[in-house]
Amino acid sequence: MGTSVSSLRVDVGLLELAAAEAFRYLEGLPERPVSIRATDAELRKLLGGPLPQRPSNGKLVLGDLVAGVDAGLVPSGNGRYFGYVVGGTLPVAMAADWLTAAWDQNCIVHDGSPATAVVEEICGEWLVDLCQLRPGTSVAFTPACTHADLLGLTVARHTVLARAGWDVAERGLAGAPPVTVLINESIHAAVVRPLQLLGLGGSIRTLPVDSEGRIREDALDEAIAAATGGPLIVCGHIGEINTGGADRLRVLADRTHAAGGWLHLDAAFGMWAAASPRLRHTLADGIELADSIGTDAHKALNVPYDCGIAFIADKQAHQAAFPLSADYLHLDPSQRHPVQWGIEVSRRARVFPLWAALRTLGKDGVAELIDRLCGHARRFADLLAQEPGVKIVNDVAYNQVLAVFEHPHEHPDTHTRQVAAVLQQQGEAWAAVSRWQDRVVLRISVANWATTDEDVERAAAALTAAHRELLP
Ligand SMILES: *Cc1c(COP(=O)(O)O)cnc(C)c1O
Repeated sequence: MGTSVSSLRVDVGLLELAAAEAFRYLEGLPERPVSIRATDAELRKLLGGPLPQRPSNGKLVLGDLVAGVDAGLVPSGNGRYFGYVVGGTLPVAMAADWLTAAWDQNCIVHDGSPATAVVEEICGEWLVDLCQLRPGTSVAFTPACTHADLLGLTVARHTVLARAGWDVAERGLAGAPPVTVLINESIHAAVVRPLQLLGLGGSIRTLPVDSEGRIREDALDEAIAAATGGPLIVCGHIGEINTGGADRLRVLADRTHAAGGWLHLDAAFGMWAAASPRLRHTLADGIELADSIGTDAHKALNVPYDCGIAFIADKQAHQAAFPLSADYLHLDPSQRHPVQWGIEVSRRARVFPLWAALRTLGKDGVAELIDRLCGHARRFADLLAQEPGVKIVNDVAYNQVLAVFEHPHEHPDTHTRQVAAVLQQQGEAWAAVSRWQDRVVLRISVANWATTDEDVERAAAALTAAHRELLP
């Protein structure tokens, strides 16, 4: 039997078509309106209908997919998209992601994909060095920061209960000593949800914060005193979802550890401040004192979805919380078996795009990327603040800008919502409203490597124009 392209199982033409469509999309991104253009009904019309009975041609199906989703794609890769906190994708990471799909590795155990196991070890070491965490910190790669928080909090729960003589993995929570969980009042839902999944929903006490979203020290001291030495977990953050601010990490760590507790940090996009010599001392000072941290590579680090990362300072505690007995798995203790360090069993080798991003950027490149995002945020805030009636309500110390738009007759909440609606319709830039300390704010998140000075100027001009248009 001869080998020709047509006899290969892989239809090269199909992949070439996909690549051509991807180039067309990416090249068109800067000109695409930064808005949402399709209704669900329109998308259903193009993509729905009953599932066909008979097989179809792959190329035709791919064409239908491209045509069907187009108007419903959010152009989050455009440098003028500032919605939520999403980030873009570095070209080298995207390229590595395509290869990851082609390689289709399942990395349950070392033998399932030695390359994945070793690259996970390497990336773990690089990240601990880059962010100057405690040497020997254990690292796991998860679908997202929410899962990284779940992982960190699972180890937290296991460890604080083990210290009280209770093995929660063996015995469950019924009859266990009560755990006190203290969380920053403005912490992300990605921390609350895992606590609920872990059966700790009823143990949560929220701690009041100051104007920048930092846990108040007096409230922390009082709550720790009330916990009277029992199992204790404290959750703080770097990169508050609205302001981008961070807790006073040294204070949290000192008080938590003095009481025998565990400190977990949610740092979905704030983590990377630790890699910037300019930002580390203001936002991430003391990060190495945390017992666990959840973060994302798919936001500010600009790696494609999905890539969350969990850091657990004590590797033994990490392993103890994830007992695994499966006779059919070959778990040579001298090798890394990804299944031992996380919740997922089968999964993709999400670490390859991360490796490509880190190796390309280097330490200086990561710091430069994060500093650049923050520089854009500051410039954005400065441009908006020059406009009468526009107030910046957060300390723009990281990548987030919160703006309030004032109107002579309307409530600022109403006017700010209207400014956002006009911006979103016009398609020059995109940002959305959020709530911060009882007021409506327009939240601008600069998280995309592709954003340029010109993008910031155009977006700020579009916002001020929307504001003026609505004035009497
Ligand atoms: C996005 C975000 C999360 C959740 O991360 P996912 O990757 O969406 O799971 C948690 N905390 C903060 C501060 C975030 O911005």
